[in-house]
Amino acid sequence: MTELIDGLYIEGEKIADTKAPHSVPIDRRWEQRKFEAKLVNPANRRKLDIIVVGSGLAGGAAAASLGEQGYNVKCFFYQDSARRAHSIAAQGGINAAKNYRNDGDSTYRLFYDTVKGGDYRAREDNVYRLAEVSANIIDQCVAQGVPFAREYGGLLDNRSFGGVQVSRTFYARGQTGQQLLIGAYQALERQVHAGTVKEYRRHEMVELIIVDGRARGIVTRDMATGEIETFTADAVVLATGGYGNVFFLSTNAMGCNATAIWRAHRKGAYFANPCYTQIHPTCIPQSGDFQSKLTLMSESLRNDGRIWVPKRAEDCDKDPRDIPEEDRDYYLERIYPAFGNLVPRDIASRQAKNMCDEGRGVGPAIKERDASGNERMMRRGVYLDFSEAIGRLGKDAVSARYGNLFEMYQRITGDDPYEVPMRIYPAVHYTMGGLWVDYDLESNVPGLYVGGEANFSDHGANRLGASALMQGLADGYFVLPDTMNDYLADMLRLGKVDPNAPEIAEAKRSVEERIARLMALRGTRSVDDFHMALGRIMWEYCGMERRDAGLREAIKQIRALKEEFWRDARITGKADELNQALEKAGRLLDFFELAELMCIDALHRRESCGGHFRGESQTPEGEALRHDDEFLYVGAWEWGGEGQPPILHREDLIYKDIELKQRSYK
Ligand SMILES: Cc1cc2nc3c(=O)[nH]c(=O)nc-3n(C[C@H](O)[C@H](O)[C@H](O)COP(=O)(O)OP(=O)(O)OC[C@H]3O[C@@H](n4cnc5c(N)ncnc54)[C@H](O)[C@@H]3O)c2cc1C
Repeated sequence: MTELIDGLYIEGEKIADTKAPHSVPIDRRWEQRKFEAKLVNPANRRKLDIIVVGSGLAGGAAAASLGEQGYNVKCFFYQDSARRAHSIAAQGGINAAKNYRNDGDSTYRLFYDTVKGGDYRAREDNVYRLAEVSANIIDQCVAQGVPFAREYGGLLDNRSFGGVQVSRTFYARGQTGQQLLIGAYQALERQVHAGTVKEYRRHEMVELIIVDGRARGIVTRDMATGEIETFTADAVVLATGGYGNVFFLSTNAMGCNATAIWRAHRKGAYFANPCYTQIHPTCIPQSGDFQSKLTLMSESLRNDGRIWVPKRAEDCDKDPRDIPEEDRDYYLERIYPAFGNLVPRDIASRQAKNMCDEGRGVGPAIKERDASGNERMMRRGVYLDFSEAIGRLGKDAVSARYGNLFEMYQRITGDDPYEVPMRIYPAVHYTMGGLWVDYDLESNVPGLYVGGEANFSDHGANRLGASALMQGLADGYFVLPDTMNDYLADMLRLGKVDPNAPEIAEAKRSVEERIARLMALRGTRSVDDFHMALGRIMWEYCGMERRDAGLREAIKQIRALKEEFWRDARITGKADELNQALEKAGRLLDFFELAELMCIDALHRRESCGGHFRGESQTPEGEALRHDDEFLYVGAWEWGGEGQPPILHREDLIYKDIELKQRSYK
């Protein structure tokens, strides 16, 4: 069908995953797939080259594991050290169905919680495998020496995260990502030493090379010298993280961007569910107009912290310690008695917004615009209170669990959370959307594999806490090293790509042209200024609540802003030196296009599910209302060409092992 729908997109053919072996039950599919997949003889592996872009938990683990198998791996990242990837920021923990607490956990329960938590918008096969390999991840990391918290008896300790009723989250104080990344980094460096992995630091991938329909390499810019280089390989893995910074303000590291996956998208890789964004409920509230970063307070704090706002708006100015118990509204405990403060993130975030919209927010009022574009002052904060936990457990016990988070909060806000409740508010945190992949984590472009937050695979419309680290390491240590063999076995026969293939020179030329065009911009506004403006549009219209009219307005504004960028942006410095304005400009151009696709995706999905809340689709109690009859599918978008509408391919979601239900945490 080529008819333009809503003036915005075209409907394409349906797609499906064809790799998960449905001849056997779900709990045997991974074993079966591994058995069916072709292998590469150890002596042949050194003849095959793999490019891994990304050195976070997904990329670092994949590069180390593929190197360990004997492949020739080139690992690219834009930081100065592999162990500075954004994964290092993860605080709270990593899930695994070990059932150490004997509280009823199992592979099936983790699978069930993840599918339900994602509001039934994830593929069953992939999620089941994730739950299955979760236990191996912990064993692998312990063997590497990752210092997980332990109980008195020596067993690894667990805590709970949102959306579950068991304790399955393994942690290392509030630095779980850092400790896991050090483990992956050591494994990676071991391979560097062994000669199977070569690292390319401060190299930004700026284009994908496709030859004869297969992913065959990348174009990079050396961020220190500006040199543009091409690298070829037999397969390419993108593990380049999430794109939450399309909102400018987010909990992500400032460098996180969408360029690698967006460039691949423009070269044919489908982008799945781009509008599924996670807004995390426990972040330090924004304090002013010129802020460039938001800080997460880990979800683990909801184990012991109680969330409340004053019952009466007139109490919002008071010192919280002067508000007596009977005048406090512990609204999550009131509305969701079964899960209380541990409801999933999408629900906790939306309720915090509702409380503030009712005028019961706390903290200083900040300037914002209402739905009609008028400026207003609103208090955007709710309390996260530890006084009860400190009374019950003692200050030392609370400090042992969360000490570094409390310290971070105090340094940023000047308030001591041992004495005064923290103030928190939702902020953009994670993107469930990403490049479409099949069961093998291969995109629709042969030879292009995608792992970690960069793919769309496991979290549906809402990710449960502590599941991103699990997925990144599952993809990197356990899935890609098995599934890629199947493809690489054929590549032995097909042979190396011709270094003179015109596609390689053409990819390099397009990068050079784009940079020259950017360097010619001599306007008046900085790149950050445009990025901030894009972020405001996205937060306003494609943030916690999305509506038809707002999304259409956003698309209009994004297009106008992009045009304005080409008229009035200013890029300082030179192309052949360290130039952050140039780096940011390239990333922002990709964010403009991605932002538009996110709005189109959000507009076409006229239902609420997980983090995608359409104002027009809610239950009488204000909860997300899905429309399974119309939207039980993954929306995988194909790039339609410059200035052309995108093409929607639907992958039907089939639930055979889990019953589809309206989510309830009450
Ligand atoms: C503050 C914070 C706390 C979190 N806490 C938790 C938690 O407790 N538990 C949990 O499960 N999840 C948590 N998450 C989510 C989790 O940290 C991330 O989803 C996960 O670490 C992503 O890992 P990754 O390997 O996919 O990508 P990243 O760690 O983001 O790594 C991306 C890599 O790709 C490279 N890269 C990107 N683009 C390019 C390019 N164009 N060229 C070259 N290299 C490129 C980067 O250099 C980097 O090496 C948290 C997230 C945040 C923001």
